[in-house]
Amino acid sequence: MADETWIFEYVRQFEREEYLLPNTWIVVRIDGRGFHKYVSFTNLCKNPIRLAPLWLQARISNHYGFVKPNDIRALDLMNAAAQHVLHVLHDIMISYGHSDEYSFVFHKSCTLFERRSAKIASTVVSTFTAAYIHLWPRYFAEPAPTGTFLARHSNGGGSTNVIAIEGNPQSQETSREKADLAISHLPTFDARCISYPSNHNLKDYLSWRQADCHINNLYNTTFWALVLKGGMSNTEAEEFLKGTLSSDKNEILWSRYGINYNNEKEIFKKGSVVLREYKMLEPTEAARRIDIDVASDLPKEDELSKTKREKIRKARQKADVVVRHIDIIKDDFWQQRPWLLT
Ligand code: ATP
Ligand code: ATP
Ligand code: MG
Ligand code: MG
Ligand code: MG
Ligand code: MG
Repeated sequence: MADETWIFEYVRQFEREEYLLPNTWIVVRIDGRGFHKYVSFTNLCKNPIRLAPLWLQARISNHYGFVKPNDIRALDLMNAAAQHVLHVLHDIMISYGHSDEYSFVFHKSCTLFERRSAKIASTVVSTFTAAYIHLWPRYFAEPAPTGTFLARHSNGGGSTNVIAIEGNPQSQETSREKADLAISHLPTFDARCISYPSNHNLKDYLSWRQADCHINNLYNTTFWALVLKGGMSNTEAEEFLKGTLSSDKNEILWSRYGINYNNEKEIFKKGSVVLREYKMLEPTEAARRIDIDVASDLPKEDELSKTKREKIRKARQKADVVVRHIDIIKDDFWQQRPWLLT
């Protein structure tokens, strides 16, 4: 065997790299692959699962019995995995997720992997997936709260009010299902990188994802109310909702089922933002200094000295990585957190 590697090294020429544009916000969006299969089958179909032959039950899946329309365990797990990603990759300023997706925003000054798209996307998605799998047992050790349809309703004063699913024993059964990970159904995610040249584009991107969360959640909440509480079949509910506006859905929920959509959990309605929150630090002099350093007098990124860069990196590392369920479409969010976009 030849011991000179140069004989083979020409194969490098076949590699193609995409270097993302400098000085642009890099967004990595990951999305769960085939997550509809993790959703409770008994909830998806009005016929009890027992009527289907065993092979079909396995094929159609229902693997981990995610509760419809929102399994809080799965959402909390997504958020915990996202928090881990921010702890590991310090160039990420903010991320936003709902359902089985998460978008991570790298600061426009980021030079990680010389901004090679494939390297960045694959590192984010494998870091996220590793954390998701590692943390899974912590979140799925407990069965979903019983009667988790519409999960636990916050009724304003901090207390919760669990809505039972009347006349739907299957979903009770679902909530007792075991949810150990199986090698045949390990959760995986895909990823892509997109770069946005302006703050405006970046804000619009995040607004787009949050609006998507809202639209989907209102639809799903109404859809599952019609199926689980109203006894409609999936097709009937789908037909029923065709062409309805948001206001119609709110009205259906309220007049038929006494559900005030506004009282749904914020995590369901708004999704989750994971960000570096400098304000969350103790208001000590040090914390204030970090705030000022990072938020105000930043020179243009390409003019940054090595020491300044290091200082920013440390400040980012020190910041709390917090999860919030708040509106990121309105300007307030950005105005209150100037460090995110400077
Ligand atoms: P793909 O591989 O194309 O992404 P997918 O099945 O993952 O296929 P998505 O469009 O990503 O399709 O939709 C995600 C699915 O997972 C939806 O059906 C959504 O309702 C479900 N899902 C994700 N998270 C939860 C959750 N926390 N609770 C209940 N259902 C969830
Ligand atoms: P990078 O993030 O740039 O890839 P790296 O530390 O992973 O950094 P590599 O060039 O990928 O660098 O080299 C992998 C390193 O891990 C080498 O030092 C290699 O000897 C070590 N390593 C990998 N697998 C094994 C193994 N099975 N036993 C011992 N050492 C290993
Ligand atoms: Mg996808
Ligand atoms: Mg998906
Ligand atoms: Mg998705
Ligand atoms: Mg390596």
